[in-house]
Amino acid sequence: MHIFLRKPNLTSCPKCGKPVLGHTVCQNCGYYKGIEAIDVLKKLTKKEKKKKQKEIETKGKEEKTTKPLTMEGLSKK
Ligand SMILES: [Zn+2]
Repeated sequence: MHIFLRKPNLTSCPKCGKPVLGHTVCQNCGYYKGIEAIDVLKKLTKKEKKKKQKEIETKGKEEKTTKPLTMEGLSKK
């Protein structure tokens, strides 16, 4: 009988906006604390690379212009 009340320390990546565990490198864009820690684009194909870069760039722009984590924003998909 285990009830897990504690959620993992999830934060949203400041770079791409994806949920990441606290104090870990974002597995989506490879950034940690605003610094590129791992090169996630390296292992991707050219096509995937473009897609990923676009995703990261647009997410970053959205993050700056919209309010961070509102209920509206979360339910809107
Ligand atoms: Zn990220």
